[in-house]
Amino acid sequence: MSRIAFIGLGNMGGGMAANQVKAGQTVLAFDLAAAAIDKAVAAGCQPAASAAEAVGQAEVVITMLPAGQHVRAVYETDILPNVAQGALLIDCSTIDVDSARAVAAMAAAKGFRFADAPVSGGIMAADAGTLAFMVGCDDADFPAVEAVLQPMARAVVHAGASGAGQAAKICNNMLLGISMLGTCEAFALAEKLGLAPDRFFEIASQSSGQCWSLTTYCPWPGPVPTAPSNRGYEGGFLTALMLKDLKLAQEAAAKAGATTPLGAQAEALYAMFDGLGFGGKDFSAVLQLMRGKIDE
Ligand code: NAD
Repeated sequence: MSRIAFIGLGNMGGGMAANQVKAGQTVLAFDLAAAAIDKAVAAGCQPAASAAEAVGQAEVVITMLPAGQHVRAVYETDILPNVAQGALLIDCSTIDVDSARAVAAMAAAKGFRFADAPVSGGIMAADAGTLAFMVGCDDADFPAVEAVLQPMARAVVHAGASGAGQAAKICNNMLLGISMLGTCEAFALAEKLGLAPDRFFEIASQSSGQCWSLTTYCPWPGPVPTAPSNRGYEGGFLTALMLKDLKLAQEAAAKAGATTPLGAQAEALYAMFDGLGFGGKDFSAVLQLMRGKIDE
C-alpha cells in the first residue's frame, strides 16, 4: 500500500486515480479544476489544497497533465521543491521527448527516480484500468514503476531509458494517424469505383491491406459495431488529440533529422480537419473529409 499524489484528474486522470483507490492505495488528489477534485473525492480519493500539499505526504507521485509546459511547470514549482526524499515520480501525460528528458534530468539532479509513462487507450480504458503504458526509465527502476502502474493497466512495457516512453507513444500514434488516413482514402476510392464498402471491408480485412484502423476501428459505419463510426463519431480518440500527437511527432522528427513525409502529410490533413471544426469528433471521422462529405 502506498500513498500516491495524483496531479491532473481530467478525462484520463480521474479514472486512473479511481483505479488506484480500488487497488487499496491512498490517493491524495489535486487538480486546478475544483469539479475534478470533487469527482475524485466521490471515487474515494483524499482532496489536497495544492499540488505541493499532495506531494509533501506521498511515496509516489503520478501526473496526468495536458502538455509539456504543464509538466515542466508543475515539476519545477510544486513537485521537486516539496516531495519527500525517496519518492518515485511518474509522468503519464503525452508530452514532447525533450520535456520528458528535461524533467528526468531535474529529478535525477535532486536524487529522485523518474519515469515517463504515456498511455495508449482512451477514456474508457482509463476508467476500466486497461491502459497500455510505455515506460522510459532506468532498468533498475522499472519493476517499481510497473508495480505502481499495474492497477491502471492491461500492459506495461519498458521502452528504454528516459524519454523512450514518449518516443514510443508518438511513433505509435504517427503510425496510427497514417494508417487511419490510408484506410479512409481506400474506402473513399472504393465508393467512387462503385465497390460496396462492406464488401471492400470483407476483402481487405482478409487481405494484405488489413490493419487495426480497418478491422478494430473501421471508419465506415457497419462492419465493426463497437467503432465510433456507428455513433456519429462521438467519443473515441478525438481529432484534436490526434493532431497534438502528430505535431509532437513532427517536432521530434525535425529535431532528430528524421524523414517523415507521411507523418507530415497526416499532420496537415488532421490540421485541416480540425480547422473545419471537427476537433471534438473521433479521428476516424476524417473519412467524411476524404469522401468530400464533411456535412454528414
Ligand atoms: P484533460 O484536459 O481532460 O485533463 C487534464 C487535467 O489537468 C485537467 O483537469 C486540468 O485542470 C489539469 N491541470 C492542468 N494544469 C494543471 C496544474 N498545473 N495542476 C493541476 N492540474 C492541472 O486531458 P486528458 O484527456 O485527461 O489528457 C491528459 C493527458 O493524457 C494528455 O497529455 C493527453 O494527450 C493524454 N492522453 C489522452 C487520451 C484521451 O483519450 N483523452 C488518450 C491518451 C493520452
